[in-house]
Amino acid sequence: MTQFTLDNRYPDALPATGYAHCDPAPAPAPALLLVNEPLAEALNIAPSWLQGADAAALWTGNGPLAGTRPVALAYAGHQFGQPVPQLGDGRALILGQVTTRDGAVVDLQLKGSGRTPFSRGGDGQAALGPVLREYIVSEAMHALGIPTTRALTVATTGATLERQFGPEPGAVLTRVAASHLRFGSFEYFAHRGDTDGLQALVDMAIDWHDPDWRDASASERAAALLDRVVERTAALISEWLRVGFIHGVMNTDNMTLSGETLDYGPCAFMDGFRPDRVYSSIDVRGRYAWNQQPRIGHWNLTRLAECLLPLLDPDEASATQRAERILATYPGRFEAHYNRALSAKLGLTDLRGGTDPAVGEEATGEDAELAERLLGLMARHEADFTNTWRVLATDRPDSPGQCRAMGEWLGHDDALAQWMDDYAARLQAAGIAESTRQSRMNHTNPAVIPRNHQVEAALDAARQGDMAPARQLIDALQSPYHPPPSAAWLQRPPSLAEVVPATFCGT
Ligand code: AMP
Ligand code: MG
Repeated sequence: MTQFTLDNRYPDALPATGYAHCDPAPAPAPALLLVNEPLAEALNIAPSWLQGADAAALWTGNGPLAGTRPVALAYAGHQFGQPVPQLGDGRALILGQVTTRDGAVVDLQLKGSGRTPFSRGGDGQAALGPVLREYIVSEAMHALGIPTTRALTVATTGATLERQFGPEPGAVLTRVAASHLRFGSFEYFAHRGDTDGLQALVDMAIDWHDPDWRDASASERAAALLDRVVERTAALISEWLRVGFIHGVMNTDNMTLSGETLDYGPCAFMDGFRPDRVYSSIDVRGRYAWNQQPRIGHWNLTRLAECLLPLLDPDEASATQRAERILATYPGRFEAHYNRALSAKLGLTDLRGGTDPAVGEEATGEDAELAERLLGLMARHEADFTNTWRVLATDRPDSPGQCRAMGEWLGHDDALAQWMDDYAARLQAAGIAESTRQSRMNHTNPAVIPRNHQVEAALDAARQGDMAPARQLIDALQSPYHPPPSAAWLQRPPSLAEVVPATFCGT
């Protein structure tokens, strides 16, 4: 039998305190449930590793893995604002890296593969429901064009786990990520006063994510890294807001250096719009509400910057000044991204020009204000965040039929009529053709998102052994901007009885 062997870049790069070698726990009866074939192809993973007799064992970590030395990483973090000096991969193992067809190096991580030295009181296992949720939602995010870790496989272990709502099948997710470096990785070494460890992390992050800074001095590398992470975080959170995504647990251990969305616990896409919407059952104060995410991004970046101080300058005051100068760019950068997203949502600019504001038309603050006024009308009626934008793109804003259609969502009143007039006037002043507007909007405003009630229904079916609804959902979410007619069912908002008021970590 050939072996599945991978190199692992973490042990050579990290001090010994930063990780632990660990083997996956034996799974009593592994079975492969889902394989992401397009992703496997992009990763150059041979079909035999995904379909062969050993596949289920392989993707639960039960072999044939000889020669590969999986590691669990240590990290710390701020959870709901409180520092936690020691967390770490309590139920995840990085198997190693593969090189994609595009030449990028990515981690393969098993999540739910058993206890590690960082498990604390936990069982090291993951339940099928949360594992499937991560698969469905992270792949939906990818299809939306939003940076995210991805999901390669789901396998059940054959074990039954006792969880909050009763017994659940145990499962393992194979996660793919540009890296597993988190803000919390830096906090771990900072708590220990380990400056060499911090420098090692900076060098790893620069090497893997910002190699153009490799040859700079140590302090320049640290400053450049902070600057890049500020930019990536601002861009990412603007993207979450664009599609109505609420991460749910923006603890610093769930924030990546790569700018990818990480950790799909109690996350959700909004149905009815309320800016302070929260789904996570544990977020009782709304710390991570939809409209708090930009502010929390800044807060989290400040925690990262604090860790980097000893590397930025030997003089503490100068280091602080340097960090503050970089952090101070965050609000403006976020606003630039978000204004651009908002004006693209109205069809006034084109998001497909990439993320460089110099490409395509400039988004103006006035356009963002126009969009904010619409959001205000939507909030008043808790209008469906996804469908309202799509309806707005169906016909000219100055046509009576279009005003009526919008009135169905936002109420037939003067405020809406005034807004529609202002919008039509803005489009006319900018000389934007109706077909251009519609095409831009339909590339920016998704028609289908993973709606909570549909995700929950798919997870419930899977727990009963029926994977068909989950597969159907995964397929339907692959073309969120231009879904095939067969995905039309996903556009229906939940009825009152179907509304899912809260999501759970379910760990
Ligand atoms: P999360 O809520 O998934 O971000 O996890 C927070 C921390 O708890 C991380 O250090 C996880 O590794 C750990 N953790 C969560 N669930 C388990 C579990 N079932 N067993 C061991 N550690 C866990
Ligand atoms: Mg986490």
